Amino acid sequence: MEKLKQIYEGKAKKLYETKDADQLIQEFKDDATAFDATKRGTILNKGVINNKLSEKIFTMLEKEGVPTHFVKRMNDRDMLVKKVRIIPVEVTIRNIVAGGMAKLLGLEEGIILKEPVLEYHYKEDKLHDPLINDYHIKALDIATDKELEAIKKYSFKINDLLRKFFDSKGLMLVDFKLEFGRHKGKVILADEISPDTCRLWDKKTKEKLDKDRFRRDLGNVEEAYQEVLRRVME
Ligand code: ADP
Ligand code: UDP
Repeated sequence: MEKLKQIYEGKAKKLYETKDADQLIQEFKDDATAFDATKRGTILNKGVINNKLSEKIFTMLEKEGVPTHFVKRMNDRDMLVKKVRIIPVEVTIRNIVAGGMAKLLGLEEGIILKEPVLEYHYKEDKLHDPLINDYHIKALDIATDKELEAIKKYSFKINDLLRKFFDSKGLMLVDFKLEFGRHKGKVILADEISPDTCRLWDKKTKEKLDKDRFRRDLGNVEEAYQEVLRRVME
């Protein structure tokens, strides 16, 4: 499958049409942004690593019954996916307090939550992805009741599967972000799952092995992404 017209360039990926109207190619870039893209940089080989990690994770999730947009990884940076209409909601699941939740509620990072917390953020860069809840989503027709039920069910299932998966690699899944889309009348998981979209801490040392190394200038950013890939591929 070849790349035809580029239809989108985002902060971390580009999207291309293919000759199949139902399929797109997502190209993973090395560009990194944080804090509403006020901080910009590159992380060497991030695109290649995130493409491989997403492939591995989407394949695992599909096997466990979660429908995803993943079709196949084509090469280092390109992934063939089903074209969806993205539901403009970023779903965050948190197992441990960090980042936005620590800030919002004045909590220490690292508190283990009694149960996972699900949050919705309206996907609109101009508004800085504001926190919303089920009622906003339904009242504003952002998604239907039925779609929201599917999103919630899949998100918690994905959390269970990902926690187990990363735990077996010596990694704690602190939190992560998901995006879903509409495809042939169904809700399926889209976008990517990678250290750009998950917080991952080493189980023993609690060392951060994710995009927080870039956000917070902790150094060894490339090494952290490499380390996650190495462990996941073992
Ligand atoms: P952003 O738009 O936030 O800068 P990216 O650079 O990761 O993010 O761009 C990828 C874009 O592609 C996102 O807007 C995402 O919602 C969208 N997307 C992801 N998967 C699909 C898909 N299967 N079909 C259509 N759009 C998708
Ligand atoms: N996240 C993401 N894209 C975003 C915002 C957050 O992938 O636009 C991920 C982030 O990497 C973390 C989780 O979602 O794993 C929760 O992020 P949080 O709300 O704490 O936001 P941040 O720390 O980025 O302000």
